[in-house]
Amino acid sequence: MKIHEYQAKKIFRRFGIPIPDDRLAMTPDEVKQAAKDLGGGLVVVKAQVLVGGRGKAGGVKLAEDPNDARDKAEAILGMNLKGLTVKKVLVSPAVDILSELYVGIVQDRAGQRATLMVSAAGGVDIEEVARTAPEKIVKFGINPRLGLRPFEARQVAFKVADGKVALKIASILVQLWEAYDDVDASLAEVNPLVITPDNEVWAIDAKINLDDNGLFRQKELAAWRDPEESEPEENEAREAGLSFVKLEGNVGCLVNGAGLAMATMDLVQHYGGAPANFLDIGGSSNPDKVVKALDIITRDKNVKAILFNIFGGITRCDDVARGIIEAKKKTDLGLPVVVRLVGTNEEEARVLLAGTDLVPAETMDEAVQKAIKLAGGAA
Ligand code: GDP
Ligand code: MN
Repeated sequence: MKIHEYQAKKIFRRFGIPIPDDRLAMTPDEVKQAAKDLGGGLVVVKAQVLVGGRGKAGGVKLAEDPNDARDKAEAILGMNLKGLTVKKVLVSPAVDILSELYVGIVQDRAGQRATLMVSAAGGVDIEEVARTAPEKIVKFGINPRLGLRPFEARQVAFKVADGKVALKIASILVQLWEAYDDVDASLAEVNPLVITPDNEVWAIDAKINLDDNGLFRQKELAAWRDPEESEPEENEAREAGLSFVKLEGNVGCLVNGAGLAMATMDLVQHYGGAPANFLDIGGSSNPDKVVKALDIITRDKNVKAILFNIFGGITRCDDVARGIIEAKKKTDLGLPVVVRLVGTNEEEARVLLAGTDLVPAETMDEAVQKAIKLAGGAA
């Protein structure tokens, strides 16, 4: 789950990372007031949207005084930034920049630990640096039991800075680790971490991605979810207890179990088709969920055929069959539906489905091939 810069800054402040004061504002007048409250001097006005590279896209602007801040906010609020509309801006006193560093911690699944990354080439797109000049990024694997220890942080910091500045950076690295660990982040970064001409160090940008698997114990943070992060259908599905990811293809898939859903998508690709979505209806036997899932899938106009692939373990095939029949009664799907149901109560399901216009299939291969054909052939 992504959170906004202003929210990430709140978390980082709790751990002692030096961050300039700020105010969140929704209108140009609020921005002017915020600039006054912050002392009336030079401020930076920053779009709060869940995308990176706001600076280059015109979503970050410096302003001379409160009136100028209002004008800059006028330009930023309501603008379209990489497909998202800017509804909020963060106003913060501008910092005088001598140099910009990158510091970040990301999950390294293969290494089974978090990796600290630090680079003197900050302020720019770090993925670009990683591609073109990987030697400019210092990496350090953090021991998950011991955490990032101060001497390790100092060793890393002295690779990108000297003297007192390096010591300040080292403390920030430890604080960054503490924040990352505490909130169950999958990514915590500051880009840029800036050094001022007076040798002060400030985090002027902040980004945290939370690990969805940790949200059950991060209730306060889970409530920060901004629906703009995902497609409206994905939010609706989450609320209904379905896991759904929209894709670009034309075969709508309804499957129970994440593993089977992945395997089904692989098989659709294998036979030259393209799945329109990932959808796991979960392990329950709830016809309402099937109805909801069909409703969400059929809103996508690319979908030309629907493929049910259900393995009845806990899920009962007859319940799924009832859900399909109910959904067909409620809405005219107007699409061919291929159904493969095996496992618990499959006989009952077959009886229920007989005499309908649903296309039955015995095996996964058969079901997938039929669905691709009915959707108009291989992509
Ligand atoms: P991003 O483009 O979405 O990563 O947004 P950032 O917060 O990183 O801002 C982009 C750039 O704007 C930074 O790299 C800085 O060059 C500039 N910027 C942001 N805040 C300040 C500030 O307080 N003072 C100065 N001088 N520049 C700033
Ligand atoms: Mn940035």
